[in-house]
Amino acid sequence: MKEGIHPDYKPTTIRCACGAVIETGSTKEDIQVEICSNCHPFFTGKQKLVDTGGRVEKFNKRFNRG
Ligand SMILES: [Zn+2]
Repeated sequence: MKEGIHPDYKPTTIRCACGAVIETGSTKEDIQVEICSNCHPFFTGKQKLVDTGGRVEKFNKRFNRG
């Protein structure tokens, strides 16, 4: 770790292809990704299975309406 050399670290919005928006910090602004912790099992593991039900249903309703 070097001190005194930090790039400009600022709040950033990451948008995933699945529609999720994650707020974090980065040297870049407005990052676009194809995979995020919401839609990639690798990040969430079993928790995704437990948590998915309501969320996905909600999510699908939102996008299938009309
Ligand atoms: Zn995603």
